[in-house]
Amino acid sequence: MSKKPAKKVKVQLAGAPKGMHDILPQDQPLWEKVRKATREISDFYNFHRIDTPIVEHIELFERATGQETDIVQKQMFNIASRGNDRLVLRPEGTPGVVRAYIQNGLSHMGQPLKLYYEGPMFRYEQPQAGRFRQFHQIGFEVMGGEDDSLYDIQVMQACYRLIEELKIKNTTLKINTLGCKNCRPVYKKKLQEYYKNKEKDLCVDCKRRLATNPLRLLDCKEEKCVEMKKDAPVILDHLCASCTKSFKGLLEYFEELDIPYLPDHYLVRGLDYYTGVVFEITTEGFDFALGGGGRYNDLVEQMGGRKTSAVGASLGVERLIEVMKAREIGEAIKPKPRVFLIHVGDIARKRSLGIIERLRQANIRVKESLGKDSLKAQFRNADRAGAPLALIFGQKEAFEENIIIRDMVTGAQETVPLAKMAEAIRRRLK
Ligand code: AMP
Repeated sequence: MSKKPAKKVKVQLAGAPKGMHDILPQDQPLWEKVRKATREISDFYNFHRIDTPIVEHIELFERATGQETDIVQKQMFNIASRGNDRLVLRPEGTPGVVRAYIQNGLSHMGQPLKLYYEGPMFRYEQPQAGRFRQFHQIGFEVMGGEDDSLYDIQVMQACYRLIEELKIKNTTLKINTLGCKNCRPVYKKKLQEYYKNKEKDLCVDCKRRLATNPLRLLDCKEEKCVEMKKDAPVILDHLCASCTKSFKGLLEYFEELDIPYLPDHYLVRGLDYYTGVVFEITTEGFDFALGGGGRYNDLVEQMGGRKTSAVGASLGVERLIEVMKAREIGEAIKPKPRVFLIHVGDIARKRSLGIIERLRQANIRVKESLGKDSLKAQFRNADRAGAPLALIFGQKEAFEENIIIRDMVTGAQETVPLAKMAEAIRRRLK
């Protein structure tokens, strides 16, 4: 008895993991536009590119980003590796850059060292508008050198000009300071006093943070906590003389740069390592921040390096792109091909591959539809591609080492030797 062939079972693939997205070909021009602007702004302001691993030891973020942060407490993607190492997908860029700075002795390069990076980050968050589990950040860091607000301003300038370069308008740069180790403890105490008899109404996280890091209460998004901070003391009233002076100095730089800013005395940001100025950039009509950052003068030392002044910021690429799309900000147009290659017959088809290589060497952008034999179909594709010239290559031309150049607008044609093809194309394209 013959055996029945096993029935093929169609396997239904699960989609991409929750909160993670494909970047499809139609969106690539916008992504490239952001990448190009990032490269140009970084080059202009002398930020050097650094790439660090996407995977790092969990301790890096526990120590740098902070045990008290949502990132470390709730949002890490742990990796089950084969060894005993505790690895995670990086949730943010700064700790990896600080580790690389210490590990590679980058403090021996000219200081301050200005660095930039871009790449994917991972946070186990509840996906919503502008919030994903895999997202991309562009980051700027200035490490080493003097503790000078000039560098704070340079980081903000790079972020602001990048956003400007992408034609995103109606932005607000909110700015605050967290004081220094002399005045911050005084302010923290004031906050604790303010919240003491309101404690029972705080959310669970804020109840805990009240003892460990009361500044973070100002950052809570829970409605009742937002309501409660309305009359909370502001840091500006508790800054020491030196912090007041440097904050004022910073604001004066803004006038020079013609960058509008808005002091926001409750801005604290969600990471533990900030030690002075913090800022955030928002844009009208969107609830999320495009980016933000601040000064982190203790982090390098805390991670085992020398005492190092540092300031940095990052922007979220998906958010920049979402705003650009919503406002229909011009997509970067993919350069059109300069010529379209049309073949007639098998021999010409084979030899077309060699012609494409000649065109590449001559830096002439070419498109073809070698998979199609019908002349009509090839001409239709040539029209669609929008190339000003078509190259027609048949058996006769292949035999005689010639090619026909056709003007797609006037229809005028000319036969030229293959050896002179590039030159003839260039002449016509002028
Ligand atoms: P942070 O590292 O939390 O200071 O965030 C800096 C910027 O990264 C934010 O302003 C966002 O633009 C972006 N960002 C942070 N978390 C996410 C996320 N889950 N999804 C998309 N973008 C994010």
